[in-house]
Amino acid sequence: MTNIGTKIYSGKAKDIYSTNNEYEVIVKFRDDITAGDGERKDNFQGKGKYNSLISSKLFEILEESNINTQYIKLIENCSILSKNLKMIPLEVICRNIATGSLLKKFPFEKAQKLKVPIIQMDYKNDEYHDPMLNDDIAIALKIATQDELNQIRTITLKINKILSEFLKEKGILLVDFKLEFGKDLKENIVLGDEISPDTCRFWNIETLKTLDKDSFRQGQNQNEVMSIYQQVCTMIVDENDLKKWKI
Ligand code: 5GP
Repeated sequence: MTNIGTKIYSGKAKDIYSTNNEYEVIVKFRDDITAGDGERKDNFQGKGKYNSLISSKLFEILEESNINTQYIKLIENCSILSKNLKMIPLEVICRNIATGSLLKKFPFEKAQKLKVPIIQMDYKNDEYHDPMLNDDIAIALKIATQDELNQIRTITLKINKILSEFLKEKGILLVDFKLEFGKDLKENIVLGDEISPDTCRFWNIETLKTLDKDSFRQGQNQNEVMSIYQQVCTMIVDENDLKKWKI
């Protein structure tokens, strides 16, 4: 039996709690939603539940393909029992289609399909507004070693392949996404954080309609945004889990 302990970290949309087992934590998804480097904030009822279910399903798919992830199990609505990791302050972004901030920084064509996925790493640091960095900067800042950066890159490309194929079958195009990695107590690189409409760009494969947090970034209202999150949930989560968690 896992007992929830004290809050050890609070992020923009999730809290981390200790447990009675030093190797495990509980990740609690809140209903908070933010955009523009935390400048816009709101609270949309149901978001935590949708994201915890979506993230659980995608982490299960990755575990089945032998990706080492933080995920242990969904223990209740919004709460995931997870391995305790020391997080690496990198936002590892993988892109299959050129959109978002890539268009603001580089002369790509809007919605251009990228022949080879682009992996970009940003330094996760609020004070510096998550600047893009390269391997030399990451190594000089002692964020990771060259070997660890290489591992992160290889794992990210594998994840891209696994998730793109899974989501395609569900009618979703995986446009881009952000991952975060950590190290377990044996210093293994492990996928952490979440994979959800908050951290990915999902487009409807037929209509190319946005199925993610871009709906909030573009100013859609609470009902519209939550109906999109619910739609993604029903598209990818197994029917018995949807019933169990009353979606
Ligand atoms: P972009 O750099 O185009 O804004 O984002 C690329 C992808 O990474 C998108 O799927 C976006 O949701 C995700 N992403 C980038 N930075 C962050 C971040 O700070 N927080 C979250 N939740 N997702 C991010």
